[in-house]
Amino acid sequence: MNPSILIVDDNPAMIQVMAGMLKGAAQLRFAIRGRDALEQMAGCAPDLVLLDAEMPGMSGYEVCAAMKADARLADVPVIFVTGHGETEAEVRGLEAGAVDFITKPVNAALLLARVRTQLRIKTLTDELRNLATTDGLTGVSNRRHFDDLLQREWQRCARTAAPLSMLMVDVDHFKRYNDHYGHPAGDSCLKALALALVSVAQRPADCVGRMGGEEFAILLPNTDAAGAQEVAERTLQAVRLLGLPHAGSLHADHVTVSVGVGTHAAQAQPVPIADGDLWGLVSRADKALYAAKNAGRDCWRASGPQG
Ligand code: GH3
Ligand code: MG
Ligand code: MG
Ligand code: MG
Repeated sequence: MNPSILIVDDNPAMIQVMAGMLKGAAQLRFAIRGRDALEQMAGCAPDLVLLDAEMPGMSGYEVCAAMKADARLADVPVIFVTGHGETEAEVRGLEAGAVDFITKPVNAALLLARVRTQLRIKTLTDELRNLATTDGLTGVSNRRHFDDLLQREWQRCARTAAPLSMLMVDVDHFKRYNDHYGHPAGDSCLKALALALVSVAQRPADCVGRMGGEEFAILLPNTDAAGAQEVAERTLQAVRLLGLPHAGSLHADHVTVSVGVGTHAAQAQPVPIADGDLWGLVSRADKALYAAKNAGRDCWRASGPQG
């Protein structure tokens, strides 16, 4: 994919010069004010920012600090563009979290070389992060990443008194599936199921994770019990619609899943919530899953009092 660079400078002529030098190296975007730059980045994070240190209104340093404080932008590399020979400005930029700096007047070869280096590093970092957070077989979040997100959403819901739900999804009679069709076919089945789960978790904050083996979880921030039960029903339906044959199943001729729903209900006001309560939520979803298994599979069950 073509990387994107955001060039921020209060002087449009300067932007034009740098854009000319970088033509073809990346997809270029522009902003002449710090605030506009941050607004643009909130919509879609670039792969690299070339940031003028000195701008009226919000300075480059302030833009950089705001980026570092925003989890979605903290990893976007920033190259400061400073006036010639201002060592102090360069030090300030590096301290603010910039990865490099370039001095004006900008030299074309130097700019291109430094930009290419940073884009290469960014690609590698993105790949590593991807490897560390996704499940190799299915491409959904791995367990560690899912747990991190769960923890983060848990804290957010405590701050905002919002509800939080999660679904535990377990494939029915999957050992018999492997026994009948073989392990490689079992793997393909898990991939198809993961795609179906992603299709039902539609809100941007929703997240599908593989918890291990043939067990998945879906995190539903800002979702109450009724909403979570609706997603649970859609999950069952999406899996049925896949129509994957399962000759070894004891209750259907196609692959099905069972779903446990756990909800932490909305509170009247923000309250400090202990981590212990978070594991309570997980264990309620787990218990509900076992209730669904005991009820005959291919169905969902919700957890007790808090749900
Ligand atoms: P239940 O309906 O009670 O959930 O029965 P089950 O057979 O699905 O449950 P059980 O826990 O007994 O077996 C899970 C099976 O999932 C065991 C293993 O064969 C299969 N499995 C786990 N991980 C993988 C995987 O990565 N690939 C494949 N192909 N199979 C897996
Ligand atoms: Mg300027
Ligand atoms: Mg199973
Ligand atoms: Mg299981």
